[in-house]
Amino acid sequence: LAADDGSTRPTIFAEMTALALATDSANLGQGFPDADGPEWIRRIAAEAILQGENQYPPGRGIPALRESIAQHRLRHTGIAVDPSTEVLVTAGATEALAAALLAFTGPGDEVVTLEPFYDAYAALIAMSGATHVTVPLRHMDGAFRVDRAALADAVGDRTRVIVINTPHNPTGTVLSADELGLIADVAQRVDALVLTDEVYEHLTFDGARHHALAALPGMADRTITISSSGKTFSLTGWKIGWAVGPAPLIEAITAVKQFLTYSGGAPFQPAIARALAAGDDDILELRDSLADRRDLLVSGLRAAGFDLVVPGGTYFVCADATPFLSDAAPDGAAFARMLPGAIGVACVPISAFCRAGSETASALSSWVRFTFVKDERTLRTAIDRLSRLG
Ligand code: PMP
Ligand code: GLN
Repeated sequence: LAADDGSTRPTIFAEMTALALATDSANLGQGFPDADGPEWIRRIAAEAILQGENQYPPGRGIPALRESIAQHRLRHTGIAVDPSTEVLVTAGATEALAAALLAFTGPGDEVVTLEPFYDAYAALIAMSGATHVTVPLRHMDGAFRVDRAALADAVGDRTRVIVINTPHNPTGTVLSADELGLIADVAQRVDALVLTDEVYEHLTFDGARHHALAALPGMADRTITISSSGKTFSLTGWKIGWAVGPAPLIEAITAVKQFLTYSGGAPFQPAIARALAAGDDDILELRDSLADRRDLLVSGLRAAGFDLVVPGGTYFVCADATPFLSDAAPDGAAFARMLPGAIGVACVPISAFCRAGSETASALSSWVRFTFVKDERTLRTAIDRLSRLG
């Protein structure tokens, strides 16, 4: 394995979940819902198992699912895609990211991501042999925003792919139309491809609007959009994701995907096909309940003494643990490892989403991420325990 930077160690999510279990903590670390998605969708998968949809589905995904993904895309972004050539079903967004990075990048190429970044990006870029270059999201005026000068500097002749993630894990930032315009400009300037990870596309709050990068002028031909049913329908263990983009790029990603998993999730595919085709009621219900849970956790963290950035989207809120740092827990990483044993709450340090020793890692060294995709009782338990800090 090419990674010598530690990016392929056991993930911080697995580590913090194990610690949460061992200490009987409220687990606000790993981002997965503790309530399964709609029962009617789960019933379709259960029926599919009993009806015999248990063998390899087509490598690109069953036609009904590709058709639903295309319709969903048209409905939400106005972008028309051909389900037979421009849509690929993958084993979660993770496989789409892996197959795309392996298809398009290799030694000598540079891949640009925002920082902090979802941890899989660093590991997958390392596996491809490319060099990882990052652009800070800076904490300013109560938000995290793209450092525009750093973006212009980071992108150059060797940039092969720019990876964007909006709404953004871990910061909860929903990139603005302006920020996306800037990214589109630099991608076109250096003729780079863009992978846009939009797994939280529906999970935005307070009217914050998610913008699809592929809809920007000049971007359709160079953009691969990645999403996943895991977040949209609270079915993260099904691992039904997809990549959508121009036929030649989807062809190249498919060529890699066939040797990663070939195909998967036979009984889940018809269920997600129906879920996507059914309209947006379930999605809106999840979004509204998440907005309430975000408000609950934000006020609990503030009452406990944390400074934080109110997220416009995702499952996550980032908070500055500075008031609680000590010789025993001098930074966010030590604080996150101490917290389960001390008060019975798990979170994850933002440094886990940064390159070791980077400028962003040091700027956000005291920050941690809490998830609010948990039931209200778990959130209230966590808030009560956090109020004992200090
Ligand atoms: N991208 C981001 C930004 C994520 O937060 C996650 C996981 N929650 C993934 C990709 C992986 O998605 P999947 O489980 O569909 O592979
Ligand atoms: N994406 C989830 C998170 O950010 C975790 C997924 C995982 O455990 N790899 O918490």
